[in-house]
Amino acid sequence: MTIQTAELPSNEERELIRTAVAGLLEEHWPLDSMEKAVERASQPGTLKAIYLKLAELGLTSLGSNPAEGGLREILLVTEEIGRRGIPSPFFGAALCNILLRDSAGESSDLLSKIHAGEMILSTHLGQLDGDMDSGSFNIVESSASGCLKYVEDTACASHLLFYASPEEGWGIVALNDPAVSITELPGMAYPALAELQLDQAPVTFLAGSDQKSENVVRLAKLVLTARALGAASRGFELLVDYAKERKQFGQPIGRFQAVQHKLADNMIRLEGVRLCLGNAAEAFDFGDASWPVYASAAHALASPALRQASLENHHVFGAIGYSEEHEAAHQFKRIHSDMTRQGGAAASREELAAFLLDQGNDMPDYDLGEAGNKFRANTQQWLAENWPASDPISFAKAAGEKGYFQVTWPKTFGGMGASPLEQLAFIEECERAGVPQEALISGEIQAHALMVFGTTEQQEEFLPQIAAGELTFCLGYSEPGSGSDLASLKTTAVLDGDEWVINGQKIWTTLAEDANYMWLAARTNPDAVKPHAGVSVFLVPMNTPGITIRPSMALYGKTFCQEFLDDVRVPRSALVGQLDGGWMVIMAALATERVIMGGAVSQVREKFRCLVEAVRKHSGNLRENAAVRNEIGKLAAEIEASRQLNMGAIRIMEEGGIPIHEASMSGVFNSELMERLGETALDILGNACTLHDDSPGAIPGELERMLRQAIMMVVGGGTNEIQRNLIAQRGLGLPR
Ligand SMILES: Cc1cc2nc3c(=O)[nH]c(=O)nc-3n(C[C@H](O)[C@H](O)[C@H](O)COP(=O)(O)OP(=O)(O)OC[C@H]3O[C@@H](n4cnc5c(N)ncnc54)[C@H](O)[C@@H]3O)c2cc1C
Repeated sequence: MTIQTAELPSNEERELIRTAVAGLLEEHWPLDSMEKAVERASQPGTLKAIYLKLAELGLTSLGSNPAEGGLREILLVTEEIGRRGIPSPFFGAALCNILLRDSAGESSDLLSKIHAGEMILSTHLGQLDGDMDSGSFNIVESSASGCLKYVEDTACASHLLFYASPEEGWGIVALNDPAVSITELPGMAYPALAELQLDQAPVTFLAGSDQKSENVVRLAKLVLTARALGAASRGFELLVDYAKERKQFGQPIGRFQAVQHKLADNMIRLEGVRLCLGNAAEAFDFGDASWPVYASAAHALASPALRQASLENHHVFGAIGYSEEHEAAHQFKRIHSDMTRQGGAAASREELAAFLLDQGNDMPDYDLGEAGNKFRANTQQWLAENWPASDPISFAKAAGEKGYFQVTWPKTFGGMGASPLEQLAFIEECERAGVPQEALISGEIQAHALMVFGTTEQQEEFLPQIAAGELTFCLGYSEPGSGSDLASLKTTAVLDGDEWVINGQKIWTTLAEDANYMWLAARTNPDAVKPHAGVSVFLVPMNTPGITIRPSMALYGKTFCQEFLDDVRVPRSALVGQLDGGWMVIMAALATERVIMGGAVSQVREKFRCLVEAVRKHSGNLRENAAVRNEIGKLAAEIEASRQLNMGAIRIMEEGGIPIHEASMSGVFNSELMERLGETALDILGNACTLHDDSPGAIPGELERMLRQAIMMVVGGGTNEIQRNLIAQRGLGLPR
């Protein structure tokens, strides 16, 4: 089916569907008590009534005609069903609609019965089911005999839709046929899954399927993921409210940092799954050939992430959530049973490993929109002509002349006025070409801050030089006694006539010995009631008398320095922004820094490409090793999550907002992923991966250096503990 994307439902239409479904479900399945919910779940009549209501809204035909609703809408309805823990047989209709999209004419009678609720479908994926124990059967002359295991919805479904075989495709069996016997399999799933014994049960085969069989499994996994995500999201919302209300030791438990960090991690998990799932569904609806990869990644990520989120929820709820009367207990069962189906994470990781290792692919490039894709192509061409350069400085100059250091600057400041997506295209292509970070140091942080807080004179003096790649800065924030607690800094700046006199000490300053200027934070009002209210920011030339620099080598192979500032005199005009108003300047600059650090996602992706390449080429046939394949699939899924979290922050910027906790979520996830990637590379590749790149026998890609650098990403620019505080307090509104 050819799809015109402009014809597909819009975000607004999706919101309308969500509101309508939520309203309908609230009416028939209020979130009142679990006792009543369990009772309702045991009444096939109630479940059928809900199905008929969904049919009245036209939702049982979702998937038949993309213009009226595709996979995104199916997942949205499923998520709402999951939020309420309703065992609704909605998926059978959705799957059948997608399967028969192109043969709707031949199957119109069948489809109209399904749409109207006259026929309600359970499903089984037959030999496609990823579970190794899902039953077996044979088909002789249109009748099936054997066993199909782990079937849901048998209490209220009238028929079973199942994958018969590659030759016969999909078939339907009536569940009330005497040749079918149903046995419940009590367990974690709620309501229980069932085993079907077929004894020459008559089968009606579907006329033709629009989908490749392995893709149907992926669709099923996405639906299960959406339902589990609905349950996990509801559980998380309940928990955040509970953490604000429940008091122990005289304070809300949400003030305890251990609790805040657990909730921050759960927020990252749920957001990562939500974004990856949305990306897979959008790619499917848009006919993007990469959708199966995104689908495998979403499921491989979601299976461990949602299960861990559920466990953490229980830890914070304590005993109250452990009771069968509490929703959390039911969410736990829903999430764990759904995310174990279809072979769980292991099967999806294997799909990713096969795509990367056997088929020789890279993870797909994102569609950055018309402007972003064009920018990517132009950058590729420019890099082909300009990289490798003779040295980083001449490369920076050439990049500056081309305007690459001003991609997102407004045109009023001489910038391109391009979007953050175009900036991302540039960063990704530089990473792919192997351009080192130092060649890209551009004063981006200072430029953005000067555009907002600088005087006209400062803007005229500094912005053109930063744009030309001629000026480098170091950040003079940290001091021996002030790391995370930056507001406690002790370096002072005192006005003496027309000059500021600066005294104090800075530490851990990256590349201070190469920088032209220090962007320095100093105390200008020692009497301010709140410490951060008495801080100001200054532009200090590094060649000013009174500055002594003592470099030290950092673990990742570059220097950071201590600076001793003794009566360092700078003109009055060196002050940036308001006197004593430096905190705002610092916070704005830190937000830019975090977004730039989010660009490290591209670096992780490139290093992963090197690891995959090394495994592919390894003489010891690592490619066939099951444990290695599992790790590769796992990392691929996490890299997708990291890219999606980064894209989430960029989308906020595209809409003119400032991603605060969103940038922190991206930074925390990516920096820790970078560490995991480096550690896993050592485990897989062994000694050769610990060698420096110029050592004989080294694995190309400097994976060991990336591991050393990863620690900086976790600590620098505000440690991940500080970021988690911020996510919990700013993102979730937990008390300080
Ligand atoms: C490679 C590298 C480059 C750097 N470059 C620069 C630079 O150019 N300019 C600059 O100014 N600084 C730079 N830094 C310093 C960096 O900003 C600090 O390391 C960082 O802010 C943490 O401070 P700290 O190292 O003193 O750790 P501390 O603040 O002493 O923290 C130690 C531990 O305690 C935890 N902790 C502290 N407070 C809290 C809290 N409230 N809640 C929970 N946990 C807490 C931290 O998370 C950490 O785990 C760099 C650091 C590194 C590693």
